[in-house]
Amino acid sequence: MTEFDHPDTVAIRSGRSANGTALNAPIWPNAVWHTPTLEFARKASAGARAGQLYGRYANPTVNAFEEAIASLEGAESALAFGSGMGAIASVVFALCSHGDHIVAQRHIYSGTQMLLQGPCARMGIDVTWVDGHEPGAFAAAVRPGKTMLVFAESPANPQLSLTDLDELGAIRGPFTLVDSTFATPALQQPIRHGVSLSLHSATKGIGGHNDLTLGVVSGEKDLIDDIWRYGVLHGATASPYDAHAALRGIRTLPIRVARQSSTALALAEALIVHPAVKAVNYPGLATHPQHELAKRQMSSFGSMMSFDLCGGLDAGRRFVESVRLAVMASSLGGPETLVSSPANSTHVGLNRDELAVAGITPGMIRVSVGLEHPDDVVADFVNTLESCIGS
Ligand SMILES: *Cc1c(COP(=O)(O)O)cnc(C)c1O
Repeated sequence: MTEFDHPDTVAIRSGRSANGTALNAPIWPNAVWHTPTLEFARKASAGARAGQLYGRYANPTVNAFEEAIASLEGAESALAFGSGMGAIASVVFALCSHGDHIVAQRHIYSGTQMLLQGPCARMGIDVTWVDGHEPGAFAAAVRPGKTMLVFAESPANPQLSLTDLDELGAIRGPFTLVDSTFATPALQQPIRHGVSLSLHSATKGIGGHNDLTLGVVSGEKDLIDDIWRYGVLHGATASPYDAHAALRGIRTLPIRVARQSSTALALAEALIVHPAVKAVNYPGLATHPQHELAKRQMSSFGSMMSFDLCGGLDAGRRFVESVRLAVMASSLGGPETLVSSPANSTHVGLNRDELAVAGITPGMIRVSVGLEHPDDVVADFVNTLESCIGS
């Protein structure tokens, strides 16, 4: 333990090493640097992550954001990308080749699922899907010598199920990765559990204001340098403007997430006793099947939850169309409370069995709790249930 290592404090102090005396990181809107000597050009071209060379290789503002994320994650190094999917695709294709094998959890971000099912299969990378919340499921699916990557997401859509990070971190052989987007680095740090890579869509809670698109991955320096060597060719480069906005988001990340977590818990407690609600999925509730695990590996329980309406598909439609404060949208981690009805929107083409495979019930509502006053958020949901469900 070092001094001043509470996440709230780290979020304020990190990512400042190139600031000079400025309190705020400067934006470097720059793609090309003058090469001072041939010796510099030779060294920069041979090594990894050369700065002051070319924008796709490195940018000082992006580096400041990466430095802050590495500090929060307790990682040696971090690398930013133009989006969460840019990070995911770059990591997967940096580490996996034709003939390799990936173990991934079944309930995972839809973009990740499509990448692993489509392009990965086409390139001869085999994927085994497991239930990541079942003890030992990841380890049991590893094929020694073949499996290059074990890909988890925790907490995960749609039931806010968790992966045991200690168990994942204990797997030897393949690289292990957690998409930790729902938790943000303020609430959990997978690297501290022995996991090789922690990944985020910084578009969500890290940025926190729905004003940027960014991804980031953290881990040991040598591994991150290897990912950079592929990533610089894949070209999902992070913009310095977005990195700057995300660094600003990081300053308030722990305090925003703490508020969202406490409001989310209040909302979950109000919903679970409501007669129109069949189930509430939130890791902070004692009724969540992995509540004890959540307490062990998360410092609070985050902004995301889902709940199931007794009235099914039709009730789900009426609910998202009737809320007054919450906004119908399917992202997360921003200041506005968002709701979506997956069975009526993103997953509308699926029949009941296909929905069940995806872990989605017809009456499921997905919620990203925002920063409005907790009483107003709870009132909006309870009033909506009163006025539109069963009417
Ligand atoms: C949004 C999201 C992604 C993809 O991130 P983008 O920034 O949209 O590319 C990946 N994983 C999770 C869990 C997400 O919520």
